[in-house]
Amino acid sequence: AQASNCPLSTEELGRSTWAFLHTMAAYYPDQPSYTQQHEMTQFLHLLGKFYPCVNCAKNLRNRLRTKKPDTRSRKKLSKWMCLLHNDVNTMLGKPQYDCSQMDERWREGWKNGSCD
Ligand code: FAD
Repeated sequence: AQASNCPLSTEELGRSTWAFLHTMAAYYPDQPSYTQQHEMTQFLHLLGKFYPCVNCAKNLRNRLRTKKPDTRSRKKLSKWMCLLHNDVNTMLGKPQYDCSQMDERWREGWKNGSCD
């Protein structure tokens, strides 16, 4: 890994951003207000404009066109984010992640204390 004062690589930026996005989804309200649903959708669209990896941002904007964020609840947003991440995994030749395990990975932690 690079020293922390070096610019982030696409991979480091991606890992940190996914950690943030999945954790944000894991703590999104169970019953969001209409405004919260709208603002989360806007947030993800704005990420597609400002994400500081030009190609990733472009890919994200394309995905958002066909895959509207499901902001109706914490569970639904977590699942949607997992599917989005799996799309990117597929594109990059990485394995699919099991989307039934979002809370263990990003909110509660695994029973055996592992992180991945
Ligand atoms: P990452 O994919 O960063 O995953 C980190 C951890 O998240 C994994 O170790 C695992 O524990 C967990 N995880 C894996 N899959 C899931 C899932 N589906 N749901 C929940 N948790 C999961 N890179 C490019 O080269 N081109 C792109 O177009 C591109 N687009 C991106 C778009 C976005 C919005 C983001 C946030 C990142 C993008 N990246 C892109 C970066 C890429 O997705 C990876 O972050 C990077 O390649 C590092 O991969 P990694 O193998 O370390 O694990």
